[in-house]
Amino acid sequence: MLALVRGRLPDADAAALASVVRDVVAAERARLAAGEPASGPAALADEAVGRIAAFTDPAAERGPVPPRVVNATGVVLHTNLGRSPWPAAAIAAAEAAAASYGYLELDEATGRRGPRFRVAEEHLAALTGAEAGLVVSNAAAALLLAVGLAGRRGSVVVSRGELVEIGGGVRIPEVIARAGARLVEVGTTNRTRAADFEGPLAEGRARLVLRVHPSNFALTGFAEVADQAEVAAIAHRHGAVVVDDLGSGALLDTAAFGLAHEPMPMERLAAGADVVVFSGDKLVGGPQAGLLAGRADLIARLRRDPLARAMRPDKAILAGVAATLGLYRAGRAATEVPVWRAIARTRGQLLDRARAVEAAAGPHVTAVPLESAVGGGSLPGQALPSAGVAVRVASPDRAAAVLRRGPDRVLARIEDGRLVCDLRTVEPEDDALLARRLAALAGR
Ligand SMILES: *Cc1c(COP(=O)(O)O)cnc(C)c1O
Repeated sequence: MLALVRGRLPDADAAALASVVRDVVAAERARLAAGEPASGPAALADEAVGRIAAFTDPAAERGPVPPRVVNATGVVLHTNLGRSPWPAAAIAAAEAAAASYGYLELDEATGRRGPRFRVAEEHLAALTGAEAGLVVSNAAAALLLAVGLAGRRGSVVVSRGELVEIGGGVRIPEVIARAGARLVEVGTTNRTRAADFEGPLAEGRARLVLRVHPSNFALTGFAEVADQAEVAAIAHRHGAVVVDDLGSGALLDTAAFGLAHEPMPMERLAAGADVVVFSGDKLVGGPQAGLLAGRADLIARLRRDPLARAMRPDKAILAGVAATLGLYRAGRAATEVPVWRAIARTRGQLLDRARAVEAAAGPHVTAVPLESAVGGGSLPGQALPSAGVAVRVASPDRAAAVLRRGPDRVLARIEDGRLVCDLRTVEPEDDALLARRLAALAGR
């Protein structure tokens, strides 16, 4: 069998082929043990050759990328689906950076080692009005790095209303402990005033004020959040720095899209934050990255921190981030960043598409108005007027499970016991695929 496979792939490494053949033979043994008929060497060789081809084929069932899925949940930033698809410009930039050698850390003029490729960081500073920017591997890493500005065993002041769990079990007190700093809590769960920060800062007990945007929950009722500019003024009077973790960090105003206003990095810096931290792959809508912007001296200190080296993004990611931020600087983000394109779709546009899907899929499918969420720990409780289709089936759960599996996977949502597909997060080119999959559910 190994000889058959080698005969068909004469240039492939023999040891690599042998490992695949071993897997295929083990699977055949298991089938024989279960009483199935023998496949024969030719069929096994086909299976091995097929597996080897799949290792590098992005379209293969068990290929090198997570299986593609049409996101019909309406959740724009779905963490389990890899948050945002990248803008085309970012994909092209990442591909070009990945494909060749490049002056990543080489100064063209001197021919010697230079600063690492800085275009993304220049965009970051320009877009936020900060003196300097820094890109690391993700926002949780950026937060850990920034908290380090408190120094070893330095103290970090945080409002009790902001000691949140970000997601995936990551909690602010633990991040502070891991950064080697001490936590000083001020205020209460529901109300914190600027004056609450005065005590620990005046006593010189703390060198850093951390502000965390409660991005995945909303504080309502008898609640008060300290005024940022006042807190920053108190911190600066006592020689402390202010780090603001924005989570999503919108570079476009969400209010212009009918949503509540999500904090923008430029506003936080203008309100006295010394360093802001936000994600590259939430509302920014690009590759996974942690974006930092702020005072030049502090960003320079962060850049020199050995931790920053451990959080360094890959050259292709750096190129993708630069291209994504470039779209904002070129004024093209609302139309070319997929996240904003999805947010911008109106209910009217989506209803038109839903009616076309209804017509193509059959009488068990009906166009309906829906409400969609932004997700990804952004804008909790905020809904966008959306539209899609509801599917009449005997078991919505079973139908959802059928759609979820490949080929042409579709992730739908169950709402009030109905199976619904929200078109906000479906690219129009996938409407026909969706209609086809829904048509096949007729009578189920
Ligand atoms: C999401 C989030 C983070 C972490 O960002 P990642 O991109 O997941 O690393 C940190 N802080 C806040 C407030 C967040 O919402």
